[in-house]
Amino acid sequence: MNHPEGMPNATYIEGKALAAATRARVARQVAVLATEYSVTPGLAVVLVGADPASQVYVRNKRRQTIQAGMYSFEYNMPETTSEESLLQLIEELNADPRVHGILVQLPLPPQIRVAPVLSAIDPSKDVDGFHEVNTGRLWNGGNAVVPCTPMACQMLIEHVRGDDLAGLHAVVIGCSNIVGKPVASLLLRAECTVTMAHIKTRDLPALARTADILVVAVGRAGTVRGDWIKPGATVIDVGINRVECSSSGKQRLVGDVAFAEARKTAGAITPVPGGVGPMTIACLLLNTLGAACRQHGLPVPGDPAAADSPTNGNAARHCAT
Ligand code: NAP
Repeated sequence: MNHPEGMPNATYIEGKALAAATRARVARQVAVLATEYSVTPGLAVVLVGADPASQVYVRNKRRQTIQAGMYSFEYNMPETTSEESLLQLIEELNADPRVHGILVQLPLPPQIRVAPVLSAIDPSKDVDGFHEVNTGRLWNGGNAVVPCTPMACQMLIEHVRGDDLAGLHAVVIGCSNIVGKPVASLLLRAECTVTMAHIKTRDLPALARTADILVVAVGRAGTVRGDWIKPGATVIDVGINRVECSSSGKQRLVGDVAFAEARKTAGAITPVPGGVGPMTIACLLLNTLGAACRQHGLPVPGDPAAADSPTNGNAARHCAT
């Protein structure tokens, strides 16, 4: 069922604007931390190899870290780096008091196993939230560092629906460790009824049509069609897919949801690009701020400009102290 004649399409969830507001707030909190406690958060980003997409992500992270008033430490290692050398660098960063957050950009070259690398990061500096201590705490309801993209999804949902999500049915399509599973865990913590769907799920369109909140993270353009959406649902499209434009031959980015169709039925929907992506980096800054405060035994400073900012409650909840 489409929106009735004359009714507007879905609200466009402005990830870019919310991300800008979040980054500005983090910058104000970082300034308070520096002035009152002489602490400046530091984020170390490690890139192994020269994957062009990873280089762009790392550049954006560096720029935004510096703009927020934090220290950025960047380590570019050659494609041929051994697992041992990377583990050695992580050990040094774990011991470096200027570094409060460590992020190893994925994917890694094939000679390096991801699991030992993620496990080597001090859980309190694990600003990606991928260490098993943090994933375990997330599922146990403990004080976890929450992975950035899932946190971004929850903040975007709460931005349009408010923070009382209790009893809503959330369907999460895609079950990766870095997106689908932690998103499901966060929505469960928010008292949603959560269904996790994956490649073997039967009659996925029918299941999706029962979702008040639909989060899609599969990595395949156009997986979710307009007639999969429950009227009024909140749709969060995590996917980032490069597709060729048939007329110009140029590449463009699209999500996993057929946006033009879905926006006719959804109540609110994230665009791609400009939705989850920018919020993910803003959440990385939030995690770095939280990590710095935690390591110095300090509370996360309130926002001097807007104590009741719409993102304040969530951030405070997610920045484990
Ligand atoms: P992933 O590790 O490949 O996981 C994808 C998941 O979707 C898997 O559980 C997979 O199941 C499932 N799946 C694949 N096709 C499906 C289908 N047709 N129906 C139902 N389930 C299906 O990917 P990811 O790392 O979670 O990333 C997902 C997407 O999000 C990618 O496009 C990625 O680029 C994007 N992403 C965006 C951000 C951001 O900041 N915006 C951050 C991270 C990821 P199987 O394993 O059984 O195949």
